[in-house]
Amino acid sequence: MTEQTMHKKIWLSLAHMSGEEQKYIQEAFDTNWVVPLGPNVDAFEQNLTEYLGENKHIVALSSGTAAIHLGLLQLGVSAGDEVICQSFTFSASANPIAYLGAKPVFVDSEPETWNISPYFLQQAIEERIKQSGKKPKAIIPVHLYGMPAQMDTIMEIATHYGIPVLEDAAEALGSTFNGQKCGTFGEFACLSFNGNKIITTSGGGALVCSTKQEAQKTKFYATQARDAAPHYQHSEIGYNYRMSNICAGIGRAMSLS
Ligand SMILES: *Cc1c(COP(=O)(O)O)cnc(C)c1O
Repeated sequence: MTEQTMHKKIWLSLAHMSGEEQKYIQEAFDTNWVVPLGPNVDAFEQNLTEYLGENKHIVALSSGTAAIHLGLLQLGVSAGDEVICQSFTFSASANPIAYLGAKPVFVDSEPETWNISPYFLQQAIEERIKQSGKKPKAIIPVHLYGMPAQMDTIMEIATHYGIPVLEDAAEALGSTFNGQKCGTFGEFACLSFNGNKIITTSGGGALVCSTKQEAQKTKFYATQARDAAPHYQHSEIGYNYRMSNICAGIGRAMSLS
C-alpha cells in the first residue's frame, strides 16, 4: 500500500445517481408540478409499494423523522404515554416520541445484531407494567446499519402483550429477515431517503402502512389535516410533511428491481 492510498478517505455514504434523475426533474418543471405532490410522488410510492410487497401501502414524506412522527400519532401515542425505543440508534428514532409529549423507554441491544434485545424488551415491558400500571404504547426496533433486528422474536413479544411495532427501517431498505423485507413486519415502518441513506431523494422519507385507511390518514395529517369542506376547516392538528415532486423525481429514477 502506498502512503497515498493509506490516507485515502473512504466516504460512508456517497450518493450514486442512476442518470435518469434529470429526466424526471425536467418533467416536473415542464409540467409545472413544482409542489409537494404530483406524478413523481405517485410513481415513487408505487415503485416502493411493488418493491416491498406484503400488501403494504406507502406514503412519501419529507423525512424519515416525519414518518415516525405520523406513525406514532396513528398508534395513539400522546402526552404521558411511554414508547419503547432501541437505545443504540440515531436520535431521530426517539425525537418524535418527545414531539408527542410521550416518554422514551430505551432498551439495550444484543450482541448478534446490535439491535434491540428481545430479552431486555420483554423485561422492560414487564417492568413498565409493574411500575406505571400501563403498557408502553408502541415498540420501535431499529435495523441499524441495514442489519435486521430479530423480528420473529420481537413480533412474538409484541403480539403477546398487544403492543404495536413501528420499525425504524431508515437504514434498511433492501434488507431482509428470514426472506421478508425489513419495513414490512410492524404495523408501521419508516424509511429514509436522506443524503446518507440507501437511496436518496436529497431529503425525504416514507411511512409504510398496513392498511389503505392508514395511508389515507397519513396523507391527511401530512397535508395540514384539512377537513373535506369547500372552505378551510380543520378539526385536527396537521403537519406539512409531504414529499416534494422534485425530490420524488430523484427517488423515482432509482431502479428498485
Ligand atoms: C436517518 C435516520 C432516521 C431519520 O431519517 P431522516 O430522513 O433523516 O429524518 C431515523 N432513524 C434512523 C436509524 C436513521 O438512520
